[in-house]
Amino acid sequence: MHSFDADTLALVTAVINGFMAIVWLLMVRSFRIAPTAGALLSGAYALFVPSLLCLQCHSWWPGSLGLWPQSYSTLAGFALMSLGVRRLMRLRQRWGDVALIAGSAGLLMLTGAFAKSGTGPSLLPLVLGSSLLSIACARDVLSGGRALQPAWLTALLALPFLLTGLLLLLRAASLLWLPGAGGFFMQGSLDRSTLAWLYLLMTLLIALGLVSIVVMRLVARIHYMTQRDPLTNALNRRAIASELRTLQAQVERGQRHSLVMIDVDHFKRINDQFGHAAGDAALLHLVAVLQANMRELDRLGRLGGEEFCLLLPHTTQNDAGLVAQRMCVALRQQSLQWLGAPIAMTASFGVAACQPHDSQGDTTLAMADWLVYRAKSAGRDRVCVADPEAMLGRMVAAT
Ligand code: GH3
Ligand code: MG
Ligand code: MG
Repeated sequence: MHSFDADTLALVTAVINGFMAIVWLLMVRSFRIAPTAGALLSGAYALFVPSLLCLQCHSWWPGSLGLWPQSYSTLAGFALMSLGVRRLMRLRQRWGDVALIAGSAGLLMLTGAFAKSGTGPSLLPLVLGSSLLSIACARDVLSGGRALQPAWLTALLALPFLLTGLLLLLRAASLLWLPGAGGFFMQGSLDRSTLAWLYLLMTLLIALGLVSIVVMRLVARIHYMTQRDPLTNALNRRAIASELRTLQAQVERGQRHSLVMIDVDHFKRINDQFGHAAGDAALLHLVAVLQANMRELDRLGRLGGEEFCLLLPHTTQNDAGLVAQRMCVALRQQSLQWLGAPIAMTASFGVAACQPHDSQGDTTLAMADWLVYRAKSAGRDRVCVADPEAMLGRMVAAT
């Protein structure tokens, strides 16, 4: 097999870095995907390009000058990469830590500490600083990716950063202890082209990992959006139907769940008197009041217009009636504030236990719907609970 020399491989790595700088820039400029993280990562990739290209040029640059831009752009690249990764993983930025590592490495290079005579900037602080920043990236991917499933995937995404960090640590060790080891590829310690292959591989894996994180974030976002009502952020009809099917299946196995249907009273009047924007604000107010009175495992969904459905797992019909009563009173007492003036708002509630032999939940929904209708005809602003004996609505005074 034809073996590539280290300089060619460094050139290929530079091209990949340049390509990634453009990819991230496009994601930011054209699609507004992860704009801050993308800008930082694009900058990082752009900085790695001259540093890799300089590997070829220091032969024709005067003296040891060729190593200076290479060293500083590498260090700045790792600093931006670490900031970009933190941002991508939605972690609070640690400007101080990054500035401390990159700044002290940069200063040590400038002062010439650990420099061998005639080799230009001292490579040890550069390599150590870059290694620490790369390991920090691995740590950030691990801690920021905890929400990503499965967990081994997060570990896999963090691995190339860790390996790059360790590779750089190895290089630092060779600089310290191997006489004559210097330059980018640790001449004298490891085969140059083996190392160049390793850097190329790490570059590819890191690029793949970062793009995968963005894709996973996008998929999670799309999934979230297909489940939510865009105005109120409550579950939409499709999501609530799916949750209801799950509960109905559990009812067949003896579990007891309940459902509450909610319809705002005279909602059209709010729209007509105060405008559509006030109507929208009223829906948000309703959702806030309902959410303040439900448990974390309860599910609230908007079926359409001003009709909502609340699923109460592991709740008897009587207990669901009490929850609905609490909500009814809270809504009556907490009027919506619109342009500094209060708008009174009430709703009618229908409460039914999830029915057996009703895999889609249609009977349960129809029953709760009918109970809302009963509450409306009895004067609105009240709760109507199904009466299993008479199969009629039992009105609960919501005082
Ligand atoms: P009732 O007490 O009998 O339920 O009367 P209502 O006025 O609440 O019921 P109706 O079904 O007559 O009116 C519902 C209104 O809700 C009509 C529609 O314009 C309005 N609506 C539906 N979706 C939205 C929305 O997203 N925003 C706003 N502002 N209004 C909406
Ligand atoms: Mg209504
Ligand atoms: Mg309605």
